[in-house]
Formats: sequence, C-alpha cells, structure tokens
Amino acid sequence: MRHSYRVTNTPDIQIPLEIRPKDGRFGAGPSKVRPEGIAALVAEAPLYMGTSHRQAPVRFMVSRLRNGLAEMFALPDGYEIVLGNGGTTIFWDAASFGLIENKSQHLDFGEFSGKFGSAVAGAPHLADPQIIAVEPGTRTEAVGTAGIDTYALTHNETTTGVSMPLVRPEGADDGALVLVDATSGAGGLRFDASETDCYYFAPQKVLGSDGGLWLAAMSPAAVERIERIAASDRWIPPSLNLKTAVDNSRKDQTNNTPALATIILAVELVEWINNNGGMEFAANRCDTSAATMYGWAESRDFASPFVENPEHRSSTVATIDLDDALDADTVNAVLRANDIVDTNGYRKLGRNQLRIAMFPAVDPADIEALTQCLDYVAERM
Ligand SMILES: *Cc1c(COP(=O)(O)O)cnc(C)c1O
Repeated sequence: MRHSYRVTNTPDIQIPLEIRPKDGRFGAGPSKVRPEGIAALVAEAPLYMGTSHRQAPVRFMVSRLRNGLAEMFALPDGYEIVLGNGGTTIFWDAASFGLIENKSQHLDFGEFSGKFGSAVAGAPHLADPQIIAVEPGTRTEAVGTAGIDTYALTHNETTTGVSMPLVRPEGADDGALVLVDATSGAGGLRFDASETDCYYFAPQKVLGSDGGLWLAAMSPAAVERIERIAASDRWIPPSLNLKTAVDNSRKDQTNNTPALATIILAVELVEWINNNGGMEFAANRCDTSAATMYGWAESRDFASPFVENPEHRSSTVATIDLDDALDADTVNAVLRANDIVDTNGYRKLGRNQLRIAMFPAVDPADIEALTQCLDYVAERM
C-alpha cells in the first residue's frame, strides 16, 4: 500500500499521470535505489541476509564490490578499495587520526567540504589546517604549499551543485597526499585516479545504495602513510584505525558488522554500470540529465541555474533557483503530493531553490518528465 503525502495548505494541483516521471525519487542522498537492486536483494536474501559477515557469501559480495569499483574507476596498479563502517562523516575522523601527518589544506566551497576542515581543526594532534574558502556556488583550486602533507578536495559539493576537476596541486611537497571526498561524485563524474591518493565516498548517493559504509580507492602512498602513522605513538581510537580497515578489506571483511543490504545494493549498481560500458556509460547518463535540467532552467523566466559558471555546474546534482514569486517550499510540497520527492534545496544555503540529483540510477527520461511537471506546477501556482 503506497501513500502520497500532502502537507496542509498545499495547493491542490494534480499532475497528470502521463507526464509524471516513472520514478519520482530525486533526492541527493539517500537517493533512488533501482528496483533491480531491490530485486537482487530479495533474490539473494535467503542465503545472504542474516548470515555471518565472516563467511563466504558475504565476503564474496564484498569482493564483488571491491573488484567492481576498481574496474569502474580503472584504478592504476597497486591501488586498492578499502571499506569500513560509518559513512563519509566517520571517514573524516578516521582520516584525521590515520591519514593526515601534521597539516592539511582544505578547499571549502560548501557545507560538506567545510565539515572535514572543521573536524581537523579540533584535532589536538594536528596543526591548524589551512582552509581556503570561497562563496557557495563557486569553486577554487588547491595551492601547492610547503609544509602541507595532505590536500583535501571535494569532487562534488552536494549542497551547492558545484563539481571540480581533480588534479594534483603543482608545487606540493614530495609525498603529499590528495584526499577527495567523492560522496556525490564517485560513479557519476569522470576522473583520473592517478591524480588522487584516497578517493572516498559513501554508497547512498551516486551508488544508489543505502548508508552506513565508507569506501575508498587508495594509492600505495596512502596505504604507506596509514601504516606509518598506525605504527607511530599517536593514539588512534580502535574503531577509527585505518590500518585495521586496510587489513580487513584485504580479506573482504570489515572490522565490525556491516549493513549487508547496503553492500548488495551497491554491488548491483556498480555491476550494472560496468556491464553497460563502465564510467563512460554512467557519466554520459548524468551528462544527458544535466543538459536537460540546466537547459530547462535557462529557458524559463521563473528559473535559473544557481551556479553561474557552466563549467562549475555539477552533472550529478543540479541546484536551480526559482523566482521569488514561486515559493520553492510550496513547489516541493505540491511535487511531494504527486509522489515526486526530495527536490528541496539544501536548507542552510537559505535560497528559494530546488536541488535535483541526476545520479546514474535516475533515468534521464525522468529528468525530462520532471521539467514538464515543474512547468505544469508553475503555470498553476
Ligand atoms: C552526503 C555527503 C557526506 C556525508 O555522508 P554520510 O555518509 O552521511 O556521512 C559527505 N560529503 C559529501 C560530499 C556528501 O554529499
């Protein structure tokens, strides 16, 4: 039994079924889970869900995830996929303990890219981080600086819809590492893994799975740094010890119990991408959706892309400003009453804005349909 949710005082606008998207989930995380993922979960469940994560069925699923991601990212020799529990937020703490040697540089261009820097700023064993902050909706580049051992980049700032190209900063010290929060980019945006040392993310965004896990593509230099710090006299909380995560990942396990459904849903999505042509297939779907979404916003007088520079606009998360006459909260409530959900902008940005995830799992035809629904609603408000 499905329910549609309608907030009181929402204008009673019924969007015709013919123009609605087939799937109305446009949230940036948790994001749409493909029905095929749920079907795979149901099919595997009897011998998988509720079984030991130390035994073959679950370990095999973890190995499929690690291998599938390595293939999708075309990882260079020696790079490996490491995983652990807790999601991206927990990974920041783990990295503060286990990856940053002394001083890091952070590019802050939105809520998430800012958070890692704040977490590091409070760590008593590290020097104050260098934070380079710019206005939301824009971006900046890492600046190679003597004494910085870790550069913290964000592939896609989910709160503003800005993505950045990944390149090692010129003039960085030898051995400096490039860490990239790719939570809303990994699997949707092209990149060259050799320009990064630790490309980390959680699977409830681009990978259309569920939360609770962090995953990272690590270079040999990153693993070497982890091992060196773990062997030093720095105190590391055991559950945040990245050396433990590396050791367990190599055995296709996690230190403590993972969410088994999260793993299988991620496997289904990654193998679907790989079986259809890999990263190009996924990135092309995002590009198609983005062209539709931004093209629509540019051609309407009541909407415009929030990110002014087209090169900075993300192809996985679009932020669309609405004219003041068209209240975004009301638009979102009308959409929700019509089973089109999670189109609201990021609260703290405080704009009259829609935010639309265009992850690979989202059908570009549904993005097209969404634009028609927005026209339909706008005409009637
Ligand atoms: C969602 C998100 C996070 C937080 O992920 P959690 O798994 O909820 O901790 C961090 N960074 C970015 C860029 C995100 O989009």
